[in-house]
Amino acid sequence: MAKRDYYEVLGVDKNASEQEIKKAYRQKAIQYHPDKNPDDKEAEEKFKEAAEAYEVLSNPEKKQRYDQFGHAGMGGAGGGFSGGGMSVDDIFSHFGDIFGDAFGFGGFGGGGGYSRSSGRRYQKGSNLRVKVKLTLEEIAKGVEKKIKVAKQISCDTCGGTGAKDASSQHTCNTCQGSGQVRRVTNTFLGQMQTAATCPTCQGTGKVITQKCSVCSGNGTKKGDEVVTLKIPAGVAEGMQLSVSGGGNAAPNGGINGDLLVLIEEQNHDIFERDGNNLFMEHYISITDAIFGASIEVPTIDGKVRIKIDAGVQSGKVLRLKGKGLPELNSYRHGDLLINVNVWTPSQKSLTSEEKSILEKLSKSENIKPKPGKKDSSFFERMRQYFN
Ligand SMILES: [Zn+2]
Ligand SMILES: [Zn+2]
Repeated sequence: MAKRDYYEVLGVDKNASEQEIKKAYRQKAIQYHPDKNPDDKEAEEKFKEAAEAYEVLSNPEKKQRYDQFGHAGMGGAGGGFSGGGMSVDDIFSHFGDIFGDAFGFGGFGGGGGYSRSSGRRYQKGSNLRVKVKLTLEEIAKGVEKKIKVAKQISCDTCGGTGAKDASSQHTCNTCQGSGQVRRVTNTFLGQMQTAATCPTCQGTGKVITQKCSVCSGNGTKKGDEVVTLKIPAGVAEGMQLSVSGGGNAAPNGGINGDLLVLIEEQNHDIFERDGNNLFMEHYISITDAIFGASIEVPTIDGKVRIKIDAGVQSGKVLRLKGKGLPELNSYRHGDLLINVNVWTPSQKSLTSEEKSILEKLSKSENIKPKPGKKDSSFFERMRQYFN
């Protein structure tokens, strides 16, 4: 169906002022309002059409785009309308600026299936915070942790209702259980219906005559619960995970709060974490440094064998690609960076034979340091580390 021109929809001409557009929409909205035209599909369409026209023509930016490009300018992202146009909920959301205070939140709610919710108010339980300490190994693989949380739980005696028994809980007479009361108010637009939270039941829709003795009518009591936390691989110190509904139970059968889990990271004996990269110091013997060797080094998931080139210097950084930590919610992995140190044995640990060999060697010209320009200067090492 071809869209009608927005100006035509509201019955104003292209030079209409902001005030005139507002006034025109007000009239259409009242004329086609769903409460006034129950089960009238055509009125509903007109009501939506007027709202859509107003949405555009009341917004200087959208109006300009519409004036320039027509309906074609309104599509796509930022156009504001997708698929089947606006929902009735969207329309209610901008009644505030049309009718001012004449309509409170949910002003038209309740009748004819246009209610945004039942109108009943539910309380939410408070959030709980817990800390979880993880090892790097747990972070590397992801882990399931069972923790016991002390919290407010739903009272099992009354099933969270707070009432002594079924007969001591009634539907609120004032609001018939809807949690809202409607008032008819005379405004400059004529009679308007407004809705407000029911003063008798505070919006819960229920009245309790005798309270549950276990929870004193709260519907909750102290208790604990074992919660299974599924912690994904790649989390880091300070991150917070949220378990929806894992927090305190709400009074009178409302919605549970959330459980907020703060991640703490235990220090590791070998690895130091830097983002998703791991860093470690590794010592090799003087002879391995001279002759080169195949050595075993630890990684976060087991040992691997690596090759040390002959003539390696202390301070050389070896990078094992993908042997770091996994990135959170990704298949990427960081690297393991191994800082190679050449181990100098202490004199006391040497036998006299070893000492005499080394003493002989010490006079050799070839054992004296002759660093080349590229031999592991501090900056060279940093470059190795960051590329
Ligand atoms: Zn109870
Ligand atoms: Zn009530």
